[in-house]
Amino acid sequence: MATPLQTSNTIDFNSARISLTKPQITPNEVARENYSERRYRMAASLQTTLDIEQLLHLFLADLKPSVELDGLQYINETQQLQIVSGRKASHSCGYRLITANDHLGEIVFYRNTRFSDQNLQAIEVMLSALICPLRNALTYRDALMASLTDPLTGAGNRIAMDHALERELNLARRFKQPMSLLVLDIDKFKVINDTLGHSAGDAVLRQIVSAVVRINRNTDLTFRYGGDELVVLLNRTNAEGALVIAERLRKAIESMEIIVGEESITTTVSIGVTSFVNQDTAESMFNRADKALYLIKSAGGNKAIGL
Ligand code: GH3
Ligand code: MG
Repeated sequence: MATPLQTSNTIDFNSARISLTKPQITPNEVARENYSERRYRMAASLQTTLDIEQLLHLFLADLKPSVELDGLQYINETQQLQIVSGRKASHSCGYRLITANDHLGEIVFYRNTRFSDQNLQAIEVMLSALICPLRNALTYRDALMASLTDPLTGAGNRIAMDHALERELNLARRFKQPMSLLVLDIDKFKVINDTLGHSAGDAVLRQIVSAVVRINRNTDLTFRYGGDELVVLLNRTNAEGALVIAERLRKAIESMEIIVGEESITTTVSIGVTSFVNQDTAESMFNRADKALYLIKSAGGNKAIGL
């Protein structure tokens, strides 16, 4: 069995640009491969998408005529991205993608035979065509994430919630699977703002969101709907299960000690619980959850009720 070849390289694409666009290869190789022409065509092809996964699939497909490859893996720790296109194999060579201003992550190529110097040269030329489209795709992803995230708590915002709820409703309808929704409202939150100040209120919001995310073990399905109201989507969860989860959240928050500066605050939440039934829409589910919340608040708060 072949021993995996572990090659790791760093390319500074700014200083390397000149040599990369003019690869140091013999005239014969130029004639055979015509890297510049392929690089030019690849650059045009990569500009057609801002989706990172699609970009990497295109890159691999466009690279294959020049270098035999089984797959690649792209890793960007800052953006918590790990994307595999194709499949891994016994030989690999990796590059850190660095420019004067950015660190764009790492890319590892895989195949079942050793990489020759000529293969590496071709990969490096083609990589220079990936840098700009990759930077654009990462910037776009950043902007997209920001538009869907509540800046105070890091939870998904209302737009993200609307998208996620539509998706979950479609799944529930199509696969006839249960789905539930929790609307969680902090009790007497105004009092915290009024007595300890707005920034204490902000700290309470942040810590409650962290607790909800931690307890549900899923960031993607916890949203700040607005003000002091959070929404939790529970896929594949029926009414009974949803009430158990809601009660677990309520109790955890009730016993939480929230430290804000010198102060230690305790607070409670009210949770309206509702589960998908046939013909339900986002609106009809919210109406029931709101009704449950209204009942709880009228009775003094700190409860979870299902309707
Ligand atoms: P209830 O028990 O009936 O829920 O009453 P409440 O005091 O929690 O009041 P209500 O839910 O009606 O109002 C929520 C308050 O949350 C009003 C607003 O000042 C405050 N709020 C909304 N957004 C923010 C925010 O981003 N930070 C802080 N600190 N306060 C906020
Ligand atoms: Mg409230």
